[in-house]
Amino acid sequence: QYILGIETSCDETAVAIVKNGTELVANVVASQIESHKRFGGVVPEIASRHHVEQVTHVIEEALEKADMTMEEIEAIAVTEGPGLVGALLIGVNAAKALAFAHSKPLVGVHHIAGHIYANRLQKEFQFPLLSLVVSGGHTELIHMKDHGEFEIIGETRDDAAGEAYDKVARTLKLPYPGGPHIDRMAHEGETNIDFPRAWLESDSYDFSFSGPKSSVINTLHNAKQRGVELKDVDIAASFQQSVVEVLSTKTHKAAKEYGVNQVIVAGGVAANKGLREALEQKFEGEDMELLIPPLHLCTDNAAMIAAAGTVAYNSGHRAGWDLNGNPSLSLEKYTKRNQTL
Ligand code: ATP
Ligand code: MG
Ligand code: FE
Repeated sequence: QYILGIETSCDETAVAIVKNGTELVANVVASQIESHKRFGGVVPEIASRHHVEQVTHVIEEALEKADMTMEEIEAIAVTEGPGLVGALLIGVNAAKALAFAHSKPLVGVHHIAGHIYANRLQKEFQFPLLSLVVSGGHTELIHMKDHGEFEIIGETRDDAAGEAYDKVARTLKLPYPGGPHIDRMAHEGETNIDFPRAWLESDSYDFSFSGPKSSVINTLHNAKQRGVELKDVDIAASFQQSVVEVLSTKTHKAAKEYGVNQVIVAGGVAANKGLREALEQKFEGEDMELLIPPLHLCTDNAAMIAAAGTVAYNSGHRAGWDLNGNPSLSLEKYTKRNQTL
């Protein structure tokens, strides 16, 4: 069973083909980072224009890489939301056109469900599981009792982890996206600055990253006024430690409380070396399996959309020709839709 996935929710035009929901056959990602860099972030109009220009080529390239024709594809899965509305629409309409032209069924996929299912291309899920989602727009702890069931047990109350990384990077005048630069610098610096950790209420699995982010900005500002030299690498190391400590501690606590079999990490910040190391340490000797996707499946790609789409498709979900991009699609709504079939 081959499913073709299309992802255009942000600044990556991506198409992939996945076999049986678990095996990666082809994975093509056309990144627009170069076009957005000089603006220090993603410009929605530019993103949409790139998607329009790229999407057809990327579909062809994925089929070529897989050495397959559309006849062999069973269904088309596409990111329905959340994301930039103009960007989502390009993918949704490309998917609809492709499905219509080749008489194939169509499935709408939640972008974050996709990030989680990137892990299934590595290893079969063992429920119940806990997923830590850390991306550019989301920071969530998600409990899953079964396929397609996403229960959010904690989430950020302000900035997402990736967003905080990018804003701190911007303050340090690093290029967009700043996460990978901070990560690299963190390993060259010392954790000698005490940025606050937002633990919130002791029974809460929620997060908050605007505090640490503002604290970095204030610390830099004060140091400058007092003529104190702070090393950028030390700021990076200290900031990274404050984020990673909270993420790994809350994940560990939730995993124990929910008694899960697997802990899986998802989203762009899952590429973070400091986070990967901290989680490996926390779960060493624990009776649960820690899954972290390979780097190329952490950030946006369509393999994850095809993988999550396979599950929705096999549970009977079909999108109609009225499928639309939904910039604020919630995981709750997505879960309910998969269950009411
Ligand atoms: P969302 O998935 O929430 O809609 P998005 O798709 O923009 O948001 P992703 O593509 O999953 O986000 O991840 C991009 C984010 O990951 C950026 O904020 C980037 O800085 C961050 N990131 C990537 N690599 C690293 C790293 N090594 N360390 C920290 N952050 C990283
Ligand atoms: Mg991106
Ligand atoms: Fe993403």
